[in-house]
Amino acid sequence: MRYFPLFLDLAGKPVLLVGGGDVAARKFALLCEAGARVTVVAPRLGAEMTEALGRGACKHVAREFGASDLEGQWLAVAATNDPAVNACVSAVAHAARIPCNVVDDRELSSFIMPAIIDRSPVQIAVSTGGASPVLARLIRERLETLLDGSLGPLAEFADRWRATIRQKFADIGARRRFLSWMLTGPVAASLRAGRETQAETLTRRALDDAQAMPQGHVVLVGGGPGNAGLMTLQGLRALQEADVIVHDRLVSAEVLDLARRDAARFDVGKFVGGGGASQEEINALLVEHAQRGEYVVRLKGGDPMVFGRGGEEIDTLRRHGISFEVIPGVTAALAAGAYAGIPLTDRRHAQAVRLLTGNSDEQLAQFDYSDLAAGRETLAFYMSVGRLVGLRDKLLAAGVRPEMPVAFVENASRIAQRVVTSTIDTMHRDAQAAQIKAPSMLIIGGVAGAAAEMQWFGRGIAASGGAA
Ligand code: SAH
Repeated sequence: MRYFPLFLDLAGKPVLLVGGGDVAARKFALLCEAGARVTVVAPRLGAEMTEALGRGACKHVAREFGASDLEGQWLAVAATNDPAVNACVSAVAHAARIPCNVVDDRELSSFIMPAIIDRSPVQIAVSTGGASPVLARLIRERLETLLDGSLGPLAEFADRWRATIRQKFADIGARRRFLSWMLTGPVAASLRAGRETQAETLTRRALDDAQAMPQGHVVLVGGGPGNAGLMTLQGLRALQEADVIVHDRLVSAEVLDLARRDAARFDVGKFVGGGGASQEEINALLVEHAQRGEYVVRLKGGDPMVFGRGGEEIDTLRRHGISFEVIPGVTAALAAGAYAGIPLTDRRHAQAVRLLTGNSDEQLAQFDYSDLAAGRETLAFYMSVGRLVGLRDKLLAAGVRPEMPVAFVENASRIAQRVVTSTIDTMHRDAQAAQIKAPSMLIIGGVAGAAAEMQWFGRGIAASGGAA
């Protein structure tokens, strides 16, 4: 270990900053956040430091650095563009045993500053030992995305309950188990949802009644259309906290790869025409694991609330008193629109978009297609490639013109994506010729007419049945 990491309490402590330019201003801002009393030594101040001085945020000594400036200081930071001055600060500080940082010069520094992820009171400091500050910054950016803003309130919450919890659990193992439940399960979820009172109630109840503690938590997560980059940051966090993942067949391997390695996985894939687990079995699985106190992620393709039976699962969880969260995902219609370059609404063609499923003739028959016929609406059909003949007949009978454009988007957003354009009249034949398979979206409406030119992703477009 080349550097020893530590967190220094600088509140109210005198700190010397040598330099008045932009670089000094950045260090100044950090020192201020830590509550240090900063004295700036510099013949001239730049705009930012002048402004800080105006606010009364620092003391300014308007001259070159002199050895006596370091007297009584806890810490020194040299941020001038004159190497001789920086070296001098370093030498004097070293002789006086005052920790000193010279910006961008680790040879002259007795301490270096990390990249910081600040979720106060939680702080994460990243250092590469000065080897590559840019790498430290990249690591910081990655961590920033993983740690949402609720971490700070969570740590404060834990702090408030600390004494009570310590009193309740003399045994360290039991205390740890309680805390890990509190920091990852329904209590943490309540804080994320801005429900502090609920978090308090759950904690109190769990402390009063040991039976209440192993209550787990279920998160319905939208895994998006398959391209892992389309997962939300909240979804990613949930995947990395999961004890158990219950996922559909539609969820891509790429997305599953983001999950915690040692989470137990259940593939409850349902495919059109049966197979896989029944909804009742899935519900039972969620309840069973949550009741064991586990953190369960129910991972679905697209969005959990769009043709995802999210409502039924939430119903079950509510009936069993199990806490839950729902994290949206990019639904297939939106992915198909974006990745095939088809605007789902467009002032020239469509003022509205409808998400439908053409899974049965009865479903198809209950809709009114007059807006589509008038060319003011886009229809985005899920799960429909197996019923194209019936769909075509219904649409034509409703007065939709036979040459109305349609586009099939197969595997939207995935590398294997294909787009096939056609018309209502011939879509069943074209889909068959191109061997369009699930998962595919069928987009119908004037907006689909431009699909051939607008495409920017994946393999080339195939019009009217030609192979891509
Ligand atoms: N909850 C999901 C939909 C589940 S229904 C969502 O919000 O997207 C399953 C149907 O979604 C599939 O039959 C197909 O029509 C559509 N679908 C899902 N992923 C898709 C993808 N990557 N490309 C095209 N269609 C997709």
